Amino acid sequence: MSHLHLPEHGRPPSEILEDLKGFASNDPAYKEGRLWSLVYHLDDEHDAFAAEAYQQYSSANGLNPGAFQSLKRMETEIISILAGLLNGGADTCGVVTAGGTESCLLAVKTYRDMARKKRGVKRPNMVIPATAHVAWFKAAGYFGVKPRLLPMTKDLRTDISKLKRMTDRNTVMILGSAPEYPHGTIDPIAEMGAFADSKGIPMHVDACVGGLILPFMEMNGIDLPDWDFRVPGVTSISADLHKYGFAAKGASTILYRNLDLLKFQMFVYQDWPGGVFASPALLGTRPGGAYAAAWAVLQKFGVDGYRDLAMRTSEAVETLKSGIEGINGLHILGHPQGPLLAYGSTDRKVNIFAVADQLELKGWSVNRTQNPDGIHAMVTAQHGEVADQYIADLAEAVETVRANPDLAKTGGAATYGMMAHVPLRGMVKTRVLDVFAEMYRAGGGTLDLGEPAKPSLPERLMAKYVHWRSGKG
Ligand SMILES: *Cc1c(COP(=O)(O)O)cnc(C)c1O
Repeated sequence: MSHLHLPEHGRPPSEILEDLKGFASNDPAYKEGRLWSLVYHLDDEHDAFAAEAYQQYSSANGLNPGAFQSLKRMETEIISILAGLLNGGADTCGVVTAGGTESCLLAVKTYRDMARKKRGVKRPNMVIPATAHVAWFKAAGYFGVKPRLLPMTKDLRTDISKLKRMTDRNTVMILGSAPEYPHGTIDPIAEMGAFADSKGIPMHVDACVGGLILPFMEMNGIDLPDWDFRVPGVTSISADLHKYGFAAKGASTILYRNLDLLKFQMFVYQDWPGGVFASPALLGTRPGGAYAAAWAVLQKFGVDGYRDLAMRTSEAVETLKSGIEGINGLHILGHPQGPLLAYGSTDRKVNIFAVADQLELKGWSVNRTQNPDGIHAMVTAQHGEVADQYIADLAEAVETVRANPDLAKTGGAATYGMMAHVPLRGMVKTRVLDVFAEMYRAGGGTLDLGEPAKPSLPERLMAKYVHWRSGKG
């Protein structure tokens, strides 16, 4: 296919901005509270405020913290505020990053390098819960640190009875989540931290999603287990500003108990022809606008504002939890204590992925989880306004699926059901990679999860397996 040409002559800004508005016509309806992941939205006024702050520094670059003192000041203040919220000590320090994934990647790099330098560890491993965010698996792949997975107990908690057996002298870090993304359960951080402390192994808490809401839930009187720097063994925490901090996209933090740890995150190359180079994080150019928006938004809400958001979120979560438990055939998965939850089916006649399809027909955008199968909801204050409608639609969706069991064999339910249950996971990986890569074919490609024109051998095997499972083969 031939490529697009850059317009020969520049176009009028007003026309271009209209184009941008038009592009969004098929995007998820997050402003109406229809989307249950990806976006943390309050209202247009808040977005405009963050955008204005962003705009003031959109050209500023945090690459060299010595150059833009404005940005270094904002970074220092953001980290200091977070250190307070997360009950850090006087030495708690950190870096603003571009997102949760960057923060997680950095923790793995830091502890791998620390173990290498201090103890000569050459074949590093890290012990992480099976429910750890995918960013940790990405980090494992990128940095060559073997993940050892703490399994889930039957009731979907991280099983720490194997923690001792799974660590050895090559273990560079232990991870806990507050909360984990799949079910919203807070890991047993105090127990894990005590163990880590006794062995001298660093422990990171992934509070990317919880870091800007759990502290305020606690202030609101909700009883949560200790999960932050109050736990002595916790050496670092990641917390995203662009999730429950409601900052513009592109802002997260990683905090360390002290500078001796943070130093292992830093990169220096002294012989580059371009000059001596030092960098605190993963990116080179660091987006000043994201810092300014994050700083501004923290100032805008203050403790009161965040407590109010946390209160409204908790109310929406309670409405959803009791609504879901009240629907015959559904149950909450795990032990959600924060703003996230997932639910599955207890009724063999109710395929949860078919329920998800029905919800989408009713205009909701939902995520599917697996092992066990479920529907996910990342709840914000905004969802308080739609929670009752969601539960009403969910109850109807369940009845529709119960009355039409064949819905489990069509549409998304068939695809996701197949993906979740194919025993040869490598087949799923290959197929997903192919489909995903197709979106990046020159010219934009397409996203089509349907049957490929000429099924490959793994696909034919997969089709057979699905047939067999659905009792037709
Ligand atoms: C969202 C999330 C991340 C990754 O953050 P991004 O900002 O999406 O890169 C990591 N850990 C947890 C628990 C998360 O919820």
